[in-house]
Amino acid sequence: STAIVWLRRDLRLADNPALHAALAAHARVLPVYIHAPEEEAPWQPGAASRWWLHHSLSALDESLRACGARLHIVRGPSLQTLQRLIESCGAAAVYWNRLYEPAALARDRDIKQSLRARGITAHSCNAALLFEPWQLATGEGSPYRVFTPFWRSALTSMDAVACTPAAQRIDMPPMPTCTPLAALDLLPRLRWDRGLAAHWQPGESGAQALLHAFIEQAVHGYKAQRDYPAVTGTSRLSAHLHFGEIGPRQILAALREHAGNDRVGAASSIAPYVRELGWREFSHHLLYHFPHTPTRNFNPRFDVFAWADDGVHAEALARWQQGRSGIPIVDAGMRELWHTGWMHNRVRMIVASLLTKNLRLHWLHGARWFWDTLVDADLANNTQGWQWSAGTGADAAPYFRIFSPVAQSAKFDAAGDYIRRWLPELAAVPAPLLFQPWRDAALLQRTGYPPPLLDLAASRAQALAAYQQLRAQA
Ligand code: FAD
Repeated sequence: STAIVWLRRDLRLADNPALHAALAAHARVLPVYIHAPEEEAPWQPGAASRWWLHHSLSALDESLRACGARLHIVRGPSLQTLQRLIESCGAAAVYWNRLYEPAALARDRDIKQSLRARGITAHSCNAALLFEPWQLATGEGSPYRVFTPFWRSALTSMDAVACTPAAQRIDMPPMPTCTPLAALDLLPRLRWDRGLAAHWQPGESGAQALLHAFIEQAVHGYKAQRDYPAVTGTSRLSAHLHFGEIGPRQILAALREHAGNDRVGAASSIAPYVRELGWREFSHHLLYHFPHTPTRNFNPRFDVFAWADDGVHAEALARWQQGRSGIPIVDAGMRELWHTGWMHNRVRMIVASLLTKNLRLHWLHGARWFWDTLVDADLANNTQGWQWSAGTGADAAPYFRIFSPVAQSAKFDAAGDYIRRWLPELAAVPAPLLFQPWRDAALLQRTGYPPPLLDLAASRAQALAAYQQLRAQA
């Protein structure tokens, strides 16, 4: 018999439970990618994600060829495309790995019903998470809203997490006609993507290479190094995880093997890193249970918060986006983002604090910019990251905790290496002047670096006053 494996964001052959299950039950398997970005509206993949997707699909096709198959690419809509393919290759079943964004969940539920109504087996699996978002619940059976108890509960079930073996040989039915990858038009017409190409190798083998480099070089120092943006102290696996080129179970298995033990309890050397994978799990748990949060405050008290008027701040928003705010650590981060499609987590928190607190712009302005520019743009993680930073989220940094970009620079980029890497015009400026170059007007003149778009102390006081007003209303 023949089955279709509908690949989406599980673009790998190893630890791919849908592919594994299809191969175990059927003689022939057709691996399919259906391009239907409109079905993900209003969060269709942004420009950087489309770039990554193009290269990831190309890498997957290559791996499939090594197994005797190839990737069948078609344009959507998904249900009609699947029905057409089922007819043309006589498939009896469709397998896929689950997605958890609200639009994808609703679509997949409908597709499952329609296929089953026509007598087709529709089988979905979990490739993306250690735990299904509905698997962990509080003692009262409700969703967790606080990370620590969520993670404590997850750790008690961690031993049961295991991988499925990699596909070796795939026999395909005769191929129906398909769309060439280039026709999906995922690459930019203006070639702004050179920085991305220099920094990333999308695909399963690129993910494995990063994982092994991280295990060899950085995992032991992760706890101490992860906050310093000038060093490669983190795994940089986020985009690979988003596209499912690697799964968290594979990471966990490799870390356990390296650490020579099966435990990931608090005392283990790999625990601090696994805990970050835990934040990814928690973000998915929150998105599943609170599907309105990509656009609305998790904490409804903030629905009446006095965000600054968008019109007045259009110029400020543009300067923030373009890395011309005049605040070096912020501009370094925004330029790293523009150039590489990625930004260090510490700096993401700093730029988000400036936007939502000092500038008092609604966090959605930041979330949307990140959505378009990050190669790892992920609805669960981005929503949680922005709501956490803005103070509107579950288990969030309180609104009154406002990062000082100057103090953050001195603490996490003390030698100024990160700032100088992204702001070459300030390369000759010594620290600590580098952290606040506006203190030397002649320096700004000489380098052409812009004056700051706001007064950090005054804007901080205004943000705190707006927050006091909100508290008084409660
Ligand atoms: P590592 O430190 O090596 O962590 C390993 C993995 O754990 C990451 O790849 C990621 O999958 C997960 N992880 C780490 N930190 C977090 C976190 N705080 N929340 C959820 N998962 C986490 N991450 C995204 O993947 N996509 C986003 O769109 C995104 N937007 C963010 C927006 C803001 C404002 C903030 C503050 C954070 C955001 N993050 C996002 C979380 C975090 O910054 C990135 O996951 C991390 O920087 C990726 O680098 P890494 O792979 O080297 O991380």
